[in-house]
Amino acid sequence: MKYAKRVAILAAFITISLIIILYNSLGFKDYESLKDHSDVEESISQIEMRLANIRESVHKSASVLPNFPEIKRPDKPKEEFKLPAPDQTDKFLETHCVSPRGELSGTRISETYEEIAFNDIDGGVWKQGWPVTYDESEYTDKDPLEVFIVPHSHNDPGWIKTFWDYYNSQTRNILDNIVDILTENEQRRFIWAEISYLDLWWKEQKEDRKNKFRKLVLNGQLEISTAGWVMNDEANTHYSSMIDQLFEGHQWTRDNISPNFMPKTSWCIDPFGTSPTMAYILNRAGIPYLAMQRVHYEVKKYLARQKRLEFSWRQSWAVGTQDSSTDTFTHLFPFYSYDIPHTCGPDPKICCQFDFKRMAPDRLTCPWGINARAIDNNNIQERASTLVDQYKKHSTLYGTNKLLIILGDDFRYQTYSEAHAQFDNYERLFQFINSNKDMHTKIQWGTLNEYFQAVMKEKNQLIESGSPKIESFQPISGDFFTYADRRNHYWSGYYTSRPFYKEMDRDLRSHLRAAEIFYSLARIQDTTRMEGMYDMLVTSRQNAALFQHHDGVTGTAKTFVNNDYGERMLTSLKNCENVISQSTQILMGHHSAENIIFDIDEHRVKQDGLPQRITIDTGSEDRYVVFVNSLGHERRELVSIRVNSVQLAVFGPSGENILAQISPAFDFPFQLRDDAFDLYFEITVPPLGASQYKIERREKGKSQVTVSKLYFHNHAEFKSNTFTTEPISDSEISFENSYITATFTRNQATLTAVHSSEFNTKVIIEFLTYISNFNSRDDRSGAYLFIPIGSAKIFRDMNSPNVFVQRGELISKICGRFLYLTHCSSLIHTKSIEATSVQFENYINLIVDNEEVVMRLKTSVKSKGENYFYTDLNGLTVQRRKYHSKLGIQGNFYPMPTLAYIEDINTRVSIHSKQSLGVGSLENGCIEVMLDRRPIYDDSRGLEQGVTDNKAIVGKFRLHVEYSQQGIKEANSELSFPSLVSQITRESLQNPIFKLVMKAKALGADSKYSGLSLPLPCDLQIVNIRALSPQDPTKSESALILHKFIYNCELPTTGIPFNHCGNQDADGVDITKLFSKQRLVEITHTSLTMLQEMKPKVKSSIANFDSIDIKSYKLTFATNISQ
Ligand SMILES: [Zn+2]
Repeated sequence: MKYAKRVAILAAFITISLIIILYNSLGFKDYESLKDHSDVEESISQIEMRLANIRESVHKSASVLPNFPEIKRPDKPKEEFKLPAPDQTDKFLETHCVSPRGELSGTRISETYEEIAFNDIDGGVWKQGWPVTYDESEYTDKDPLEVFIVPHSHNDPGWIKTFWDYYNSQTRNILDNIVDILTENEQRRFIWAEISYLDLWWKEQKEDRKNKFRKLVLNGQLEISTAGWVMNDEANTHYSSMIDQLFEGHQWTRDNISPNFMPKTSWCIDPFGTSPTMAYILNRAGIPYLAMQRVHYEVKKYLARQKRLEFSWRQSWAVGTQDSSTDTFTHLFPFYSYDIPHTCGPDPKICCQFDFKRMAPDRLTCPWGINARAIDNNNIQERASTLVDQYKKHSTLYGTNKLLIILGDDFRYQTYSEAHAQFDNYERLFQFINSNKDMHTKIQWGTLNEYFQAVMKEKNQLIESGSPKIESFQPISGDFFTYADRRNHYWSGYYTSRPFYKEMDRDLRSHLRAAEIFYSLARIQDTTRMEGMYDMLVTSRQNAALFQHHDGVTGTAKTFVNNDYGERMLTSLKNCENVISQSTQILMGHHSAENIIFDIDEHRVKQDGLPQRITIDTGSEDRYVVFVNSLGHERRELVSIRVNSVQLAVFGPSGENILAQISPAFDFPFQLRDDAFDLYFEITVPPLGASQYKIERREKGKSQVTVSKLYFHNHAEFKSNTFTTEPISDSEISFENSYITATFTRNQATLTAVHSSEFNTKVIIEFLTYISNFNSRDDRSGAYLFIPIGSAKIFRDMNSPNVFVQRGELISKICGRFLYLTHCSSLIHTKSIEATSVQFENYINLIVDNEEVVMRLKTSVKSKGENYFYTDLNGLTVQRRKYHSKLGIQGNFYPMPTLAYIEDINTRVSIHSKQSLGVGSLENGCIEVMLDRRPIYDDSRGLEQGVTDNKAIVGKFRLHVEYSQQGIKEANSELSFPSLVSQITRESLQNPIFKLVMKAKALGADSKYSGLSLPLPCDLQIVNIRALSPQDPTKSESALILHKFIYNCELPTTGIPFNHCGNQDADGVDITKLFSKQRLVEITHTSLTMLQEMKPKVKSSIANFDSIDIKSYKLTFATNISQ
């Protein structure tokens, strides 16, 4: 920015400050009283005129309709939440701000990236490895190779077929066959993972068949691994959805298989890259072992060289400590895939011959030229030694003489004859190998758990004997993104594919969470009214869980399969709306109402359409809107509702008249209406609570709302009786509030800078596009892969957008409409947390083929280290990233489930996203977020289609510039945390306030409700209050899941009100006190998914957290019936 302009803005800022001081010092609270002081008014108007002359672009008071007797202006600056001074707060900092850390031990995955050349050297038969050899003398009579063959079938709940079609045509048979084949011989084993399919099958079975299945699980022949509803994606998923889908599977298994059910292992062979969040969730659910497959082939090779494919996967905040409580013991498969050719050993040509489904005349063959042959007396010696040779080579990659061999593929064991072909031929081999002692190999059917138990036994012996071999088990931390399965084929496309449904997933997440919480609270008051609603919740949970599947939220299923997920999510959203409305009705005391008295604003009417606004008829009678907050802290936020008149006044829950702003109704892509209006006002809603606001109809001339002013550039005239409109004369536009000023270019309608009294940071927004590679058949972008041709170019037709600006008392907004994109930025003028960020909305309807559009933030931040940037993992933790040119553009994109940031010594620039998208930082000071993509070709990973079913989407983002006077320390570890402001912003974006429009005034109800007696401490969040199935009408049971996070204390707490946080008691939070308004009769600390009771360290009602943690408590409330 030019110096003269900066001076002008500074002058304007001082002038506005003077006005505010003048207003306040004279005690004027409203416009009416100002009128009686004409001298002051005159001088103010003089100042305002001067201001207008100085700069059109500086924020001005909007035009105001007359008669404002008692209007409540946004609160004057209240005392803000402050962190204690650093020198007195060691204890505070330790528990809230920094995680314990010490000397580094073990390995961070990011460090391996420094050492690996990523040059894809041809390793021979094991293409991505090396020619493996072994020393026969390693295997002895005393210490033979012990092989566990684990049969499995990978069942995608939707991909090429819908969930139901797969079940009906394939999975039902598979489950039938498993029961039969295992019952025939108790030596046989099988593992099963997807509870969603088991649920379908279970509903069709007679009791004796169910008993057979239960018996197989309980006698250890059939292991249910993970027991999640699905094998969830780990890149795009929010951690709370990961917990939900696991919870649903665990509760199902406990209810149907055994009340003592407890999975020991987790099975993750297909998710495209893996996250430590999942390992942590498994750990908290009591599952100690994990087997996983899809990790970058170069990382596998690196670990295999060091025999480190089995490790304790440790959470980043526990690295460098002796604390192993977050560890999950993990087995990583070394080879390319989980199919039989890639699991027996390094040579797929040989392994394929031991897939007995691939025997002529079966159509399935081996692509390496030699098919499987049935084992008979003539070939058994050669076959057995060929196979054992592969096993021994395979075994050299691990630290023990125990070997895990999985036997299966997608939808295997579909026919009885196929199942028998595998089991019978292997049993012949087993018999031969086990009886030929000189092979020094013991081979058997096994479950994952049997394998891990054997490894643990050997590991403990190594520890006891002080063997150096134990080194191979040292902990590893970090994540396994971005996955590449071959060459430079990075699976970074699916971070963005089908963003419409990724957004819908988050919408369902927030709806389901609120429905669970308010249902749980309402059921305490009124069990009879809640009948039927629990079933709605269950359907919604299961549909939401289904979409967490690694071909669901990833956007990698066939179009019609994706639409099936969409229909399920739509049904679930409607269910949740119903539950939220009915529960709120009960909690607000509308006892007499028979029917639902609310309409929920911004609801979806079809699975592929954006949420729709309700236009409230305010022209004929007073209307009421109830706002619902599902977070554990009070929220002050600006909301908008759509009305059809402007002669209005807005009143809060205590009858106070509050400031409101009228703007023309704005619909994407760029529609302004003069017959409908967006009414903005700031609301306050208690923790887990609801507040009722009244929209009062006023006679003409008695309105009490301010009207925004409109400005246009390169736009047809907008005729309005309500608004004044003007062209924009200046080439730069600024919006300002108490914290920041945001500057935009008129010609592009995009942000150029954010500044305050402390900082001046350039943030230039650009829209660019990568052209998907489609030239070479083998290197195409598709649903999974992102393979661009070269670097990004300016997105087409980004010149001369139509520009619209509105300025108001409460919110100012600038929108630019380009050919395929509308970009809006807003700044809120209240004193609240949301006023500390600039809000973006990107409407995009991508119809141009083979383009992948990004929003790039070019900032003046000098990214720390070697182009470090930070992205979140599942909304739970933050992972430091570094740009590596050796990975190409596609290998430098990462998942951004909620947040990404860059920082230098004083400034951090963060971008929050409401939905999961891909993100990269290819240059210092830049962040780029992929918005949508339209690769028309298949990328050869089995989907056999491109992704061209794009929908119009609106991506919501918040941009924070945070400045630390003391400096953001260069931590020598990779640990980084969002600030408290950032955490609160993220929670509010992920859990929007629900707007319940009352159909007609229902009398005798309360205007305010809060489910909590106290707000939670700052660093505690309610992940969920999940209702447990209703058993006894005198009791209401729910699972309270709490998450304690760590935040960066070097960044300011701007905008956080003093009373935001509850008691920061070092001893923990007393749950009884939190719920003292409710009839809480029992609290039990349990494992995450409630399968185990935990022994309380302290009184069971105290939730105490040493560091980052997620804990579950079973709460039992007495219902009104019990009284
Ligand atoms: Zn799969």
